[in-house]
Amino acid sequence: MALRTILTAPDPRLKKKAAAVASVDAEVRQLMDDMLATMYAAPGIGLAAPQIGELKRVVVLDIDREDVKTGPLCMANPEIIEASDEDVTYEEGCLSVPEHYSDVARPAKVTVRYLDRGGETKELACEGLLATCVQHEIDHLDGILFIDHISSLKRNMILRKLLKARKEKERDEAEGKPGTKLKMTAKEEAAEA
Ligand SMILES: [Zn+2]
Repeated sequence: MALRTILTAPDPRLKKKAAAVASVDAEVRQLMDDMLATMYAAPGIGLAAPQIGELKRVVVLDIDREDVKTGPLCMANPEIIEASDEDVTYEEGCLSVPEHYSDVARPAKVTVRYLDRGGETKELACEGLLATCVQHEIDHLDGILFIDHISSLKRNMILRKLLKARKEKERDEAEGKPGTKLKMTAKEEAAEA
């Protein structure tokens, strides 16, 4: 398993529509394993392939909360086949939108159909945080971020802050400040995995 770099907004690759996989072959299973490792290391509870620059319809999730414990879930070509009329609002965050959170309303219950890591077709009824998370991850496959569900005023403010933070980080790294060392360590680990 290899740790992959998570892209952060604004990045044009996060705005593209991902393509369905033909089947769950060894390459897709490797991608799923890399995504799980990258998600746990972040740490996060969900990750979609476009977030690591792979424009494939693959997502992974693992929710471990008091009310919902899923264990690792790998989904290829996931689609929502049923959604409740009733909405629920959660404060969402995203590994590609670091350190920013916002309330987003989505259907409270959904049923998702997907191919699992073994290539079998599965259907899963989701509610609570899992329902929100599944919809958030499937959005990524269509180039949609949670900030696309909020006002353009707030979205643009968040994007400006992310851009500023990235420039500061790049400047620090160019000057040899701590960030550089951390990045090298992550690369060394990835080479070993
Ligand atoms: Zn996300």
